[in-house]
Amino acid sequence: MQSSFRNYINGRWETGVTTAISENPSDLGSPVGEYARADVAQTDAAIRAASQASAAWAFTTPQRRADVLDQVGSEILARKEELGDLLAREEGKTLAESIGEAARAGNIFKFFAGEALRAAGEKFASVRPGIEVDVTREPLGVIGIIAPWNFPLAIPAWKIAPALAYGNTVVFKPAELVPACGWALSEIISRAGLPAGAFNLVNGSGRQVGQAIVDSPLVDGISFTGSQATGVQLLKTAAERGAKVQLEMGGKNPLVVLADADLDQAVECAVQGAFFSTGQRCTASSRLIVEAAVHDAFVAKLRERTRALKVGHALGRGTEIGPVASRSQLEQNLGYIEIGRNEGAELVVGGAAVECATPGHYMAPALFVGAPQHRIAREEIFGPVAVVIRADDADHALALANDTPYGLCAGVCTRSLKQATHFKRHLQAGMVMVNLPTAGVDYHVPFGGRKASSHGPREQGRYAAEFYTTVKTAYTSA
Ligand code: NAD
Repeated sequence: MQSSFRNYINGRWETGVTTAISENPSDLGSPVGEYARADVAQTDAAIRAASQASAAWAFTTPQRRADVLDQVGSEILARKEELGDLLAREEGKTLAESIGEAARAGNIFKFFAGEALRAAGEKFASVRPGIEVDVTREPLGVIGIIAPWNFPLAIPAWKIAPALAYGNTVVFKPAELVPACGWALSEIISRAGLPAGAFNLVNGSGRQVGQAIVDSPLVDGISFTGSQATGVQLLKTAAERGAKVQLEMGGKNPLVVLADADLDQAVECAVQGAFFSTGQRCTASSRLIVEAAVHDAFVAKLRERTRALKVGHALGRGTEIGPVASRSQLEQNLGYIEIGRNEGAELVVGGAAVECATPGHYMAPALFVGAPQHRIAREEIFGPVAVVIRADDADHALALANDTPYGLCAGVCTRSLKQATHFKRHLQAGMVMVNLPTAGVDYHVPFGGRKASSHGPREQGRYAAEFYTTVKTAYTSA
């Protein structure tokens, strides 16, 4: 077991105040490592270092920023198998999914290396004679990055890369479940040529480390991805001191299957969207809204496809569904199976804990047929649990799809261009998919949602500049 997962503060690797073991959810007998946990004082030291490095990094050339980010991206891509192996062991998604996530993280750094060079302003004619107006973007300052456990490389990458590209300094707090991935990413960043303090890693608890970041007057912006409860709480605290906040939170994403859909394609979209990555995606298709004419045929096909999914060790050959990431998440998932049954939903397949060759948090993906008011159809479960809801017709399906407090992603399966266009226009979500799973997005275009799913500007692509920069309007008289 590796035992050197320290924190990175002001250009130095620091032991923590305490340590904790990072578990392997596929094999509880083979933990991933022991990592340092910071306290409030260490977090404050990291924030002070980021603040002191702020001016130096903000005024570096775009070339230097591009070079740093490009180096990080290149190394991640070159080591994607090794990083994928670590991710699979620590978070539990399959090796193929994990390598794909590592590659995505590398590509994100490469993309933002280019964005550092492309940052541009605008020039306006003044309404007054002899005056020129320039509008430029400047770095926000110190960015606190608070990440969840389900994409432990890609989500930190899509926050850290734009923060640094636009000239900000960073204090990064990974989720407690995935310190090793946070450490591995930080270790690569630490060797890429940043000035001391420009990037800092503080592993530790949300209540201590996360809260210290939110509370600090030296932190100018907070980019958070996680649960709605934490996000909303964080927003209130940060708003009191006027910090800029970007929140990406939960989802209860609908996938609508219309009567004219290619049913095999729709089933594939549902399986991938609902169950891959063990359903632990904010964009997971957890509500499958199916027009009455094809409802029974869809359920029959999806039941067989779901039953055949291979649950196993994340590194196992042929594994399609890895373990649930933690014991508490597994208990929560199984609790929702009981809730669904007690409310009268029909459990069609799966839904039980599974024993594999190694002790882990395994569970068979669960498919329910239920009603829109059931809790399993309204609350984010964040596991491999999906519910099919019958819709009378396409209009009813659209109304059901939008009947949720969330608005992250929504999908429709149809062969009709007219319906595809109608749904793209009327689905109340930040991202819409046609004949595709709701989960699985590109890295160079905006990511984010509406309603209770998100707050503040979008992440990723060049839209990321909205959050990580502040606009300056300069007037010059010749
Ligand atoms: P979480 O809210 O429990 O934790 C997220 C992060 O916040 C962790 O790093 C945690 O330590 C930290 N935190 C906890 N309390 C804090 C506090 N008081 N102050 C500051 N930080 C604090 O979420 P999670 O369980 O890690 O992740 C699962 C959730 O994330 C799900 O709801 C999922 O939908 C959501 N998610 C959303 C997106 C998206 O882009 N919309 C992507 C991935 C995950």
